Amino acid sequence: MLKTGLYFHIPFCKQACSYCNFHFSTQLKNMDDLVSALCIETEQRSTDNLIGSIYFGGGTPSLLKEKHWLEIQNSINKYFPNQALDEFTIEVNPEDITVTNLKTWNTIGVTRLSLGIQSLNDAELVWMNRVHNSEQASNSIKMAQENGFKNISIDLIYGGPLKTDDAWENELTWAFKQNIQHISAYALTIEPKTRLEYEISKGKSPELQDERMVSQFNILQTEMLKNGWDSYEISNYSLPGFNAIHNARYWDRMPYIGIGPGAHSFNGREIRRWNVANNARYIECLNIGRKFWEDEELNANNILNEYIMTAIRTSKGIDLHKINSFDSRWSVANQKIIESFITKELLLKREESLILTNEGKLVSDYITSELMIVG
Ligand code: SF4
Repeated sequence: MLKTGLYFHIPFCKQACSYCNFHFSTQLKNMDDLVSALCIETEQRSTDNLIGSIYFGGGTPSLLKEKHWLEIQNSINKYFPNQALDEFTIEVNPEDITVTNLKTWNTIGVTRLSLGIQSLNDAELVWMNRVHNSEQASNSIKMAQENGFKNISIDLIYGGPLKTDDAWENELTWAFKQNIQHISAYALTIEPKTRLEYEISKGKSPELQDERMVSQFNILQTEMLKNGWDSYEISNYSLPGFNAIHNARYWDRMPYIGIGPGAHSFNGREIRRWNVANNARYIECLNIGRKFWEDEELNANNILNEYIMTAIRTSKGIDLHKINSFDSRWSVANQKIIESFITKELLLKREESLILTNEGKLVSDYITSELMIVG
């Protein structure tokens, strides 16, 4: 039976990181009301579908208190009774790792922690406006492990102006020694309406340098390979058997139900839905029974383009059989451009799949846009 993923968006953060444009609020006083609204939506979205993974993202789910976790967990068990979980992940920040929180997460059945470490350099963490420091970062991993968590992922960010190539290599060497199972490594990007964008535009922060990004991406690939880690998606790396299960639903076009402000849902075929990304409006709508989401039905071109955008990022690549089942004209129409990417060693063809080379990963947005159907 096809499994569905369940996602909860917890839209609160203690403070805004300089590079982040996710949906969150630093007004923590609305947390009780938001959790009550999440539970109302959980009831509304009730289904007998088999739930295969639960993921709490944000924002900062680790800001939730024990009473919130228990309230939400009761709702999940009541309204999504058919569960065969392969994974239950929560995103947590190092400063929230306490024995009390770890016990609560164990009690409700969390199997995997995704820790927002980002950097081990205190000056860089301050520059990013993160709450934690490097000592808290390392201690949080140890504490989680001592309290029974055996599947830990950490997030790291490379390419920033304060990170030298040597420092990046040292961070990766440190990470490999932490007995963790998964690393998500993201190239720093300048997102619109962030403090980083503002500071760079005013000359208060140095510009990002492409050469540094490329060099640190190459270090990442070399170190992962050398240490036996699987580069299974452009930003995701794991030890054998520890690929992210819930997140793979997004790349594999599998169904998921997203609950909370700004959360997205997908029925695994052609319907996408997204909730209003505003905490006050979300709470109000749930309380007075007003519609709080929009949805769209994807056409054949949308489906094909979405498949290209996600599949190309994975080590499985674009499956030509699959893409032909969406539109048999695609391979013929793109034959020349595909051959030119293969000649330039940006793509390689393995059996019936097109896979990005490391060079190709550096220009993946360009390759993706060239392969997508326009119109
Ligand atoms: S990076 Fe994470 S902790 Fe920082 S503002 Fe964004 S969601 Fe919040």
